[in-house]
Amino acid sequence: MRCSNCISKSSLGDFTVNPYVGCEHQCAYCYVPLLTHNGDWEKQVKVKVNLQPTLARELLGHKAKTGSVFFLSSLTDPYQPIEGKYNLTRAAISSLLSSGMKVVIQTKSPLVIRDIDILSAHRERVQVGFTVLGLDGAYRESLEPSAPSVSSRINAMSKLSDAGLHTFAFIGPVFPGWTDADIDELLPQIRDAGVKEISVDRMRLRPGLQEKIASALGGPADLDYDSAYIRVLKKVREFASKNGIILTHPFSSWRSSTASFVSPLRALLAALSAPVKSASSHSSGSARTRTRLMVSHVSSHFLSG
Ligand code: SF4
Repeated sequence: MRCSNCISKSSLGDFTVNPYVGCEHQCAYCYVPLLTHNGDWEKQVKVKVNLQPTLARELLGHKAKTGSVFFLSSLTDPYQPIEGKYNLTRAAISSLLSSGMKVVIQTKSPLVIRDIDILSAHRERVQVGFTVLGLDGAYRESLEPSAPSVSSRINAMSKLSDAGLHTFAFIGPVFPGWTDADIDELLPQIRDAGVKEISVDRMRLRPGLQEKIASALGGPADLDYDSAYIRVLKKVREFASKNGIILTHPFSSWRSSTASFVSPLRALLAALSAPVKSASSHSSGSARTRTRLMVSHVSSHFLSG
């Protein structure tokens, strides 16, 4: 497919670029296909074949000022397998970094290692995050059927950290029975991979998502997502504090200077001091308000990547 423009404003930074439409990773909890109402989204990935000249033209037009934060990508994993063939993400980050922009990458794929040369050359303007919900096993295979293994993500994280890049782990959406069961084992692995930041995100059950998850798990998906989220958040907070890791919005230091948002840490502390709600409180107004405050990052990657 051809695109007429490729830079979009984003709440995940200043701007985003999505080199592909669709995602091969096919995560059962991904709500992008539900948002886009695109039945082909998971079946056929469309490649923006003219991404590079389009991006170059838009950058020349000063759509974004030097130093703007670009998040890759908001609606797909920028390093899904097809990137190995088309190199559009590599071309995009190369153009963005050469133009003086900051780049935040979030992925589930170790393919990002391929671009360590470009990333390292501009390491002061790069952050790379990996989404990890739990360890490898039955849940990962059911919920992220085509995504790379968690162990490969952690290895990639480690290599990037060793290369001096700022890495972060994105734990989300917290999945009951998986994330909360594995978190004690997962956190030391993330620490040993050298991450500077961890953030945690909760599940947002958009219409149709529960059915999609139930189908992937082969059973009911009426799970207590909020309680699991609070349990995980508490453990991550304690662990991060003991290990000198920042628990925050992964992009807070780089977020658009014009954006105003509730300090993630303040929101987090407020949330953690509140009593944990039971499953029956899931739909209460106070629970909704509290969890909204805690949402500092809505990644299409927990969402992509
Ligand atoms: S959650 Fe991210 S990696 Fe998974 S299918 Fe959606 S966009 Fe792709």
